[in-house]
Amino acid sequence: MLIRTFNPPVRTLMGPGPSDVHPRVLEALSRPTIGHLDPAFITMMDELKELLQYALQTGNAMTMPVSAPGSAGMETCFVNLVEPDDKVIVCQNGVFGGRMKENVERCGGSAVMVENTWGEAIDINKLEDTLKVHGDARIVAMVHAETSTGAQSDVAALVKLAHANDCLTIVDAVTSLGGTPVKVDEWEIDAVYSGSQKCLSCTPGLSPVSFNERALEKVRNRKARVQSWFMDLNLVMGYWGTGAKRAYHHTAPINALYALHEALLILQEEGLENAWARHLKNHLALRAGLEAMGLQFIVKEADRLPQLNAVTIPAGVDDAAVRSRLLNEYNLEIGAGLGALAGKVWRIGLMGHASRAENILLCIGALESVLGDMGAGIKPGVALPAMQQVLNS
Ligand SMILES: *Cc1c(COP(=O)(O)O)cnc(C)c1O
Repeated sequence: MLIRTFNPPVRTLMGPGPSDVHPRVLEALSRPTIGHLDPAFITMMDELKELLQYALQTGNAMTMPVSAPGSAGMETCFVNLVEPDDKVIVCQNGVFGGRMKENVERCGGSAVMVENTWGEAIDINKLEDTLKVHGDARIVAMVHAETSTGAQSDVAALVKLAHANDCLTIVDAVTSLGGTPVKVDEWEIDAVYSGSQKCLSCTPGLSPVSFNERALEKVRNRKARVQSWFMDLNLVMGYWGTGAKRAYHHTAPINALYALHEALLILQEEGLENAWARHLKNHLALRAGLEAMGLQFIVKEADRLPQLNAVTIPAGVDDAAVRSRLLNEYNLEIGAGLGALAGKVWRIGLMGHASRAENILLCIGALESVLGDMGAGIKPGVALPAMQQVLNS
């Protein structure tokens, strides 16, 4: 077989991530590669840290991107903070809470699960009851924005309750960062991780993390060494730390870091508040169109994530056939259901650079056409005007 240069099709990415990458970010990727200890690169790293601190609203010195995807940021938090025999309370309301449990157990800890209904926010009363029974728990972990369902939880309140019970907190902000408020210092989150490919409009493969002093104190006072050499913060900080001379730890993904620098710069230029407002407005426009058509959201309004819209697949409609027609005929990707919601919902992302009026227009128009063809019983001709009304308001 003759293999040629790979030229991917140009798609519109409205699934659960990766989302559309900003053209400035793609351009940044193609800049000349330099050494990972080059003084020019070190200057870029310092700026990148500052931009990340802004995005996360934190003054934490220990703020940096892990050189791997969001799952590695998750793992970095757990392997550094969870010691063998530590009891960790994991609040679960979707797929990603389940992965936290896996992490705790692989670190030799024991996970106590606070199970919540999928599609709902984490119930603070359930956490309170669990903390009463498990007074020896050391850490509480939670997902801020559950990408598997589109539900958002009140992290500020949950963290406060955890602290009142002498627990540190680990927060998954992979899908929330850049799309909805994430205020690490104000909410007093101890350890947080995110991902580059959701609302930051960057390519996949990097995971911003941030640890406060309280969390670092636990890392420094560990009895056993962190079992992962690569993710051991004590070692990584030799490269990402400030002041002292940078030491080789691993070869940083140079060009990917240019891309994240550019993505965060774009976010700073727009302003966090403006980015949050854009995500909200575009969500309301998409929602108006989807609901006018007759599709229903699975998450109740108060808990809905603007950047991840989960709607029920109409009865009798072939889930995969719809998604493949959207992809083949409109170059549009929307997400399938994950875990317990597989085959039951579509997850329509409006994340980062993908959260734009033209994308909503494409999605609503394409869905109306494909579902209409399939006899899905949706209302024709009303979705676009409903959507437009919100966009013009
Ligand atoms: C996408 C996602 C992750 C995992 O990120 P990867 O970059 O795919 O490893 C973790 N948590 C949540 C909530 C996510 O949406």
